Amino acid sequence: MAKVAVVEGDGIGHEVVPVAREILAAVRPDFEFFDVEVGYGLWERTGSACGEETIADLQSADAILFGAVTTPPDPGYRSVLLQIRHALDLYANVRPIQGEGVDIVIVRENTEGLYSGIEWTEPDRACTVRVVSRRGSERIARYACTLAGSRRHLTIGNKANVLKSDCLFVEVCTAEAARMGVPCRARYIDALCLDLLMHPDLYDVVVTTNMFGDILSDAAAYLVGGLGLLPSANIGKRAALFEPVHGSAPDIAGQNIANPVAAIRSAAMLLSHLGDPASAAAVEEAVHRVLRAGIRTRDLGGVAGTREFGAAVLREVGQRK
Ligand code: ATP
Ligand code: MG
Repeated sequence: MAKVAVVEGDGIGHEVVPVAREILAAVRPDFEFFDVEVGYGLWERTGSACGEETIADLQSADAILFGAVTTPPDPGYRSVLLQIRHALDLYANVRPIQGEGVDIVIVRENTEGLYSGIEWTEPDRACTVRVVSRRGSERIARYACTLAGSRRHLTIGNKANVLKSDCLFVEVCTAEAARMGVPCRARYIDALCLDLLMHPDLYDVVVTTNMFGDILSDAAAYLVGGLGLLPSANIGKRAALFEPVHGSAPDIAGQNIANPVAAIRSAAMLLSHLGDPASAAAVEEAVHRVLRAGIRTRDLGGVAGTREFGAAVLREVGQRK
């Protein structure tokens, strides 16, 4: 029996996560859920956004369903999600971009690159070090090649014409693809951004370094109707965390208008990860049917509330069983 940690976080996390959890519990009544509190709200009340025991609790789970956390522009505040990614060594950020005629998975290296945290400020300049290690590249390359091996091919997003660090990244990814027999090509990230939006059918699995992947996947949201629809997985050797690509959206929090699709799809990814692709497919299919029936939240031009949309998906899931 799987143990699932549920982290609502901040903002609309408190609205979309309960919907996703209810659907998970409906398809897998055997799962054991436990709540873990982290985030800005907790920090405001207690002075700590994520304690030591919190990390231990998360480590004890088979999978984590995560909402979103607000990171205030306060220099004393450390991003909880970065803290968790680091503590659980969640090295692969997997972002499927799926919709009408689009089926792409962006695999973003999640622990190094420009977000390694090695930076300093001098009086007249500020420096951020971009670290690409052989070990870091090998494990993300292996993850991406394994995925591409069961799909079609791999594209390596890079800027090796300018950055030495990307020469290593491309070298390692190309070697791994050759070793695993995965068709692969390298593309410069700037050209790739435009080409991906104009010819999404030419792309399958795209592997890239931390910040390039961050930017590319938000841009790719354009292909499928916006941030409210995109799920993601953060995968480590043991731990796995599933969260919407969107943030805590404080501007719309507490109004029952947030789109819960990204959170529900994240729950579907969690099901697949825990070895239940049939339930994952049933949840995905239920979401499709509800959207096709014209039940939509405001961001997609509809009038359904977060809870009403969730209830509709729950009905569809129930009818399938
Ligand atoms: P954070 O600081 O936590 O990243 P943010 O203000 O950057 O929060 P995001 O959640 O990243 O906000 O999203 C940007 C905008 O997209 C929001 O202001 C919101 O209007 C919209 N948005 C994001 N997620 C959703 C959603 N699930 N449903 C509807 N609109 C959304
Ligand atoms: Mg944001």
